[in-house]
Amino acid sequence: MNRGAIVEHLFVDVVPDTLEQGVVYVCIRYTTAVHLCMCGCGEEVVTPIKPTGWRITFDGVAISLHPSIGNWDFSCRSHYWITDGRVRWDRQWAPQEIAVVRKRENAERVAYFGQPVAAARSTSIDDSPPARGSRPRRVLRWLARQLGLRVRRGPEPGSGTAHDRGGRRP
Ligand SMILES: [Zn+2]
Repeated sequence: MNRGAIVEHLFVDVVPDTLEQGVVYVCIRYTTAVHLCMCGCGEEVVTPIKPTGWRITFDGVAISLHPSIGNWDFSCRSHYWITDGRVRWDRQWAPQEIAVVRKRENAERVAYFGQPVAAARSTSIDDSPPARGSRPRRVLRWLARQLGLRVRRGPEPGSGTAHDRGGRRP
């Protein structure tokens, strides 16, 4: 198993305006985690912590995010896992694979939220994480989206197939 770069973590109440490369900011209050894409491209990766998003585990030393993080809409199209405080790179997916996973994830969201959710294509500034300074309205809008009123296109859980292929090894 190749061991990637070290990932630090910070538990925060609010996500700072300036993110540091290699740090995952975990905001329990807003059940989300944010980090700069591990490839170094500078894109901000928001991973909502929820049943249809990501799970985060903390063993007292390091964090893991599950499933993998697929930044299909970034130009880098990076795909990696954060496991035990390390980045582990995974292969890029073909567009067909991404389409299949997106379809399945949307079905999962429909099952979970009990209603269809529109597939937004936006990674505009409006889709950035909550809790930046004092912008409560924006936070509310963001939370509404996170609750399934709109599906954000950004990083997406790699989900089952990626997990099956590249799950953790003992
Ligand atoms: Zn990147």
